[in-house]
Amino acid sequence: MQPLTLYNTLSRQKERFEPISAPHVGLYVCGPTVYNYVHLGNVRTFLSFDTLFRYLTHIGYKVRYVRNLTDVGHLVGDSDEGEDKIGRMAKLEKLEPMEIVQRYTLDFHNVMATFNALPPSIEPTATGHMIEQIEAVKELIDKGLAYESNGSVYFDIEQYNREGGQYGKLSGRILDDLLNETRELDGQSEKRNPLDFAIWKNASPEHLMRWKSPWGMGFPGWHLECTCMSTKYLGTQFDIHGGGMDLKFPHHECEIAQGHGLNNHDPVRYWMHSNMLTVNGQKMSKSLGNSFLPSELFAGTHPLLDQAYSPMTVRFFMLQSHYRSTLDFSNDALKAAQKGYRRLVNGLRLLKSMTFEAEEGAVVEPKHGEEVARDNQALYDALNDDLNTAVAIGHLFSLLKKINQLDTKQVSMEQFGEAAFAQLQTTFVQFFEEVLGLKEETSRDQTAMVGGMLDLYREYKTQRLYDKVDQVRSYFKSQGLVIRDMKHRIDWAYEE
Ligand code: AMP
Ligand code: ZN
Repeated sequence: MQPLTLYNTLSRQKERFEPISAPHVGLYVCGPTVYNYVHLGNVRTFLSFDTLFRYLTHIGYKVRYVRNLTDVGHLVGDSDEGEDKIGRMAKLEKLEPMEIVQRYTLDFHNVMATFNALPPSIEPTATGHMIEQIEAVKELIDKGLAYESNGSVYFDIEQYNREGGQYGKLSGRILDDLLNETRELDGQSEKRNPLDFAIWKNASPEHLMRWKSPWGMGFPGWHLECTCMSTKYLGTQFDIHGGGMDLKFPHHECEIAQGHGLNNHDPVRYWMHSNMLTVNGQKMSKSLGNSFLPSELFAGTHPLLDQAYSPMTVRFFMLQSHYRSTLDFSNDALKAAQKGYRRLVNGLRLLKSMTFEAEEGAVVEPKHGEEVARDNQALYDALNDDLNTAVAIGHLFSLLKKINQLDTKQVSMEQFGEAAFAQLQTTFVQFFEEVLGLKEETSRDQTAMVGGMLDLYREYKTQRLYDKVDQVRSYFKSQGLVIRDMKHRIDWAYEE
């Protein structure tokens, strides 16, 4: 079997994955800023890392998966100046910032559960780690890598580089180019160098979210939060750090600088970045106005949507592309995904209902065993190749062919062989459900189903087919429902 390789943004190549302390794996993923409903683009990134978490666990690693919630410090425009995204929303809605945080955290959890994403092992919040952040700021000042200015504290990039740091090494940005790109913004005069970034910000009295610190009332910098939370739960160096491609710079670049500054070594072994969900080639984003919410997708209510799509259709749509490729949203692609998902889920249902029954002494065809083993191997090879879910799905379809051949008796169980059948069942079910996180969607619209049955009941009554009428009645009863056949209307109710 091919060993697991992952594309490391830091080295710009696929590398063999070797955890620091196998079988344990430390995985940190930047979580959402909980100031608004998550859109489908955000979901893509979180589902990519859910699949990574699932696969690492499947192949035997004991993963500590930390995904934070950013509940303070992320400023509008992702810069060092401006309003806090959560504070701004709290003012707009006349709510406590923590009410905003609570509302959108609950929404985020619901959305992730709907897409069948597993919860992380730890979900720390930035506001819950204020002491750690203030301590880290103090330490960076003591080391001469940060300086105070007007109650804010900035990381000193020139000093960091003088001491051997390589700011820009993750994103490949060159310092001189960055300097040329940087426009003079309000408040930048506080900085020694325009590229220096805030690790603590002074807060004016109108600022809602502020804490007491040695530098006055303020709040932590967005980049420092992730450094403190990842270090606390995974150590000063851990295995994998993930996030969307757009977080590479400056967020993750700054995390490396802070981690290195604090501990004299790189904080992360493998940096993984998932690519963007786009709409007509443009990144889906709230600010561009081309984003839509999962709820709009399930209801089919957004103007960009021809119809409603179910959560598993969408998950499947995302798995059909490699996480490092951009994925463009389109109705045609989603419709094709719906078809593909349903074909596989039909296979899953058939497979689960089948049992191996063969006549004594029947001839077994060894060919099938080899083919199933080859597909099983190919599934692992695909995922070991930097988590290539797109290729893996191709092999599930190859196994589906076998399931359908068995179902239509094109191939008999005797011909297939018991061992091959057992492997077909294990491989297909494990990869579909456990690794890719897909499942049968049983929660179809119950009301529509019941309505349809009532129509049948009416029809049978009109035709005086009383046996059938009784059959429908007893079916309702078995479901804990009763038919209320009244003079003026026929309806159903829960059996009391
Ligand atoms: P935010 O709440 O803005 O910090 O974003 C949460 C996560 O969603 C980050 O990892 C972003 O990189 C990611 N993200 C934002 N927009 C997109 C998009 N269009 N496609 C994929 N991921 C995205
Ligand atoms: Zn982060």
